[in-house]
Amino acid sequence: MEFALSTEQEMMVETARRIGEQFGLDYWRDHDERKAFPREMWQAICDAGLCGVALAEEHGGSGLGMIELALAVEELCAGGAGATLAQIFMLNPIFGGVAISKFGTEAMKRDLLPGLVSGKINFCMALTEPDSGSNALEVRSFARADGNGWRLNGRKIWITGVPDAQKMLVIARTKKVEEVERKTQGMTLFMVDVGREGLTHQAIAKLGTNTLSSSNVFFDDVRVEPDEVVGTVDGGWPQLLEVLNTERIMTVAGCVGAARLASRLAVEYTSERKVFRGAPVGSYQGLQFPLAQCHAETQSARLMNLKAAWLHDQGLPYGSEANTAKLIAAQALSKTTERAMQSMGGMGYAKEMHVERLWRDARLFRFAPISEEMILNFIAQHDLGMPRSY
Ligand SMILES: Cc1cc2nc3c(=O)[nH]c(=O)nc-3n(C[C@H](O)[C@H](O)[C@H](O)COP(=O)(O)OP(=O)(O)OC[C@H]3O[C@@H](n4cnc5c(N)ncnc54)[C@H](O)[C@@H]3O)c2cc1C
Repeated sequence: MEFALSTEQEMMVETARRIGEQFGLDYWRDHDERKAFPREMWQAICDAGLCGVALAEEHGGSGLGMIELALAVEELCAGGAGATLAQIFMLNPIFGGVAISKFGTEAMKRDLLPGLVSGKINFCMALTEPDSGSNALEVRSFARADGNGWRLNGRKIWITGVPDAQKMLVIARTKKVEEVERKTQGMTLFMVDVGREGLTHQAIAKLGTNTLSSSNVFFDDVRVEPDEVVGTVDGGWPQLLEVLNTERIMTVAGCVGAARLASRLAVEYTSERKVFRGAPVGSYQGLQFPLAQCHAETQSARLMNLKAAWLHDQGLPYGSEANTAKLIAAQALSKTTERAMQSMGGMGYAKEMHVERLWRDARLFRFAPISEEMILNFIAQHDLGMPRSY
């Protein structure tokens, strides 16, 4: 077991730290207020090669793995962005990069991966539907065979980053539930143009993560070409799970970076703030212990996530580790931002101190991309061998 970073990994983390600080707290407060996609930062990330860390060199990537990607994302998020930045890594290197590099055609790899790595093409992923959230097997968007391609109809909800994306990874049924023995059969992944005729979207008003829009998406007889299939027609379910498990690793890296950031802001403020007898409030155990507890949980989640990433890079199963890390990291981030705000008193509530943004954004990760209840179901069933409860 090797815990030390290689020289290459250290240099990459250093690059991420530099960009994270360059586009720091004020940049993110401004973009959050304007609900603006952090375009300049994403371009700087791509220019530094950090979007393509885990993609093959022949497609413009660095040929490294999920460990390196997780390390870079954590550091970038810790600089000032918080966990929302990790979502852009989910959209691009995961929904675009992992889906295409693992399951796409050679033409797709050639046409789309260089643009992904350079920041010219942005992706989004449409799985969730109004009647299919935690239970993704209830997806009802249907692609009906039409000549050599398909016609797609249906509706998706909560899809991140649609207005800023050119490509959408869509999960649809290609066989009706009545036609298959199991609901895991008859699902297909497609990579379609966001601008295609019949595809419309509409923003949803929400609590936080303002730099990335969330949309309702409508498919009205959208034409899908045969070369837009990612993976296996009717056999997309296991391929989808593989993509979603790498998404968990990105989520944890973002949560860990954001928790480090919130904790740092709280420590800095409470080390200066004096209320009684000239001692800073940060000297009180009542403020220290909760932050120390959060730190311990964050570090544990980090270690479990790096194990998940290492297993992934070895080609070994990593679902249990990725899920466990996601459960603890999202809870630790939520608690850290809550405790940071509490420790800062009224100033924690002020936009100028940044913690309120991190607190708003953190809430998302307890139920998305997978809820803590569904992870506990997974652990009970798969890791403990208990009967399925639902
Ligand atoms: C800001 C935001 C961005 C998102 N981005 C995307 C995206 O880009 N693409 C995409 O496809 N989706 C996206 N989602 C959707 C997200 O993945 C879902 O919200 C999430 O999977 C939960 O599904 P749901 O909201 O339908 O909750 P539901 O499935 O309705 O669950 C409601 C509650 O019931 C609990 N529950 C459900 N079943 C069980 C059970 N068997 N046992 C115990 N508890 C249970 C859940 O844990 C939850 O607490 C996004 C959501 C948000 C809010």
